[in-house]
Amino acid sequence: MAAHVFAQRLQGVSESATLKLNALVQELKQQGQDIVNLTAGEPDFAPPEAVKEAVIDAVRRDQNRYTPVPGLPELRRLIAERTNSQQPELARQQPWGAPNVVVSNGGKQAIFSALQALVDPGDAVLIPAPYWLSYPEMTKLAQGRPVILATEAKAGWKLAPSELSRALDQAGSRARVLILNSPSNPTGILCSRAELTALGEVVRRHAGARDLWVISDEIYDSITFDNRPFCSFLSACPELAARTVTINGLSKRAAMTGWRVGWSVASAELTQALQTLQGQATSGINSLAQWASIAALKLPEEIYRQHTLVYERRRNLALEILGRSPKIKLVRPEGAFYAFLGIGAGLKPGEDSMGFCERALTEALVALVPGTPFGAPDHVRMSFALDDATLRRGCERLVEWLK
Ligand code: PLP
Repeated sequence: MAAHVFAQRLQGVSESATLKLNALVQELKQQGQDIVNLTAGEPDFAPPEAVKEAVIDAVRRDQNRYTPVPGLPELRRLIAERTNSQQPELARQQPWGAPNVVVSNGGKQAIFSALQALVDPGDAVLIPAPYWLSYPEMTKLAQGRPVILATEAKAGWKLAPSELSRALDQAGSRARVLILNSPSNPTGILCSRAELTALGEVVRRHAGARDLWVISDEIYDSITFDNRPFCSFLSACPELAARTVTINGLSKRAAMTGWRVGWSVASAELTQALQTLQGQATSGINSLAQWASIAALKLPEEIYRQHTLVYERRRNLALEILGRSPKIKLVRPEGAFYAFLGIGAGLKPGEDSMGFCERALTEALVALVPGTPFGAPDHVRMSFALDDATLRRGCERLVEWLK
């Protein structure tokens, strides 16, 4: 029988590298290997008790039916309120309300839908590197063209406004979307208000000539260290509200990764388009997860702050140990729960981070995520969303192995 041919839009789209690597780690563990797994992309906490209770209560109240496609009205209202509190400059003039919110299956679906709604074949989607590895793949699925913007570790992985301006000029009228992600996966870098204002200024200058949008992925907003404040893009650039989609969710903040709750906040016009798209793709998300999310959003910030303090302590622990190896270069993470390690000095000739991770796994029994699919082939990502003892063991093994 002739081989099956799948749709062209799938050609060149990669499977999620983190998921693939995790499967390999599980396999080795099942063979009895003592692997220290530093690949986790999710919190190691449980959701707050009140959130668990809310699900049980929703089951008892028989909340079994389809919900409205964009989400339960109260949930959408709470999301709008929370977004307003992070964007007070905008909220004073033009607060978001429930009609600006679509609740999706994770922030992932929200970003996917936004790209589907905005990008036509051949449109340029500008993505600063290192990037969350799904952005370019989702862009390809929307038949767009990922345009990678270089940043440098020695400049703290910060996107220079001049680089953005250059890329926008080069993409010309095909420039359609800029994706921003602060705090960042994989670097843990946090953009300051001044940095976001400067990038927003470039967007504003170029937007006149083309219909340019910003997708601001703020999924790690509640995890920032050293008392550094998180700044939402539209707090720094409220004048860009009509062309910005803010993405967020409860996966990282409330340790609800498997419950699949994320959202977009955008103009009513775009929200209507996203609602149409989601209505034909998945409908409203799981009703029980939505009731849980209502409870999660009503909890005081303090509950989540506790988790952040734990991550901060672990970051300090990891930096202290990894700092002993001259072969590891590190930009101090300011948020999220990842460290992005420059391992150029530990590579064999012709090797990139893929080969390095394979060797680290089989020789040091430490699982790391290669930086290549994040756009940084001489880096690896490690997570500190795991207990102190395991984290210590993993970092020490790595430092020892690199000797
Ligand atoms: N954005 C970034 C930067 C992420 O790291 C992730 C998950 O790892 C997501 C979005 C999507 O998360 P979820 O779909 O679980 O909300």
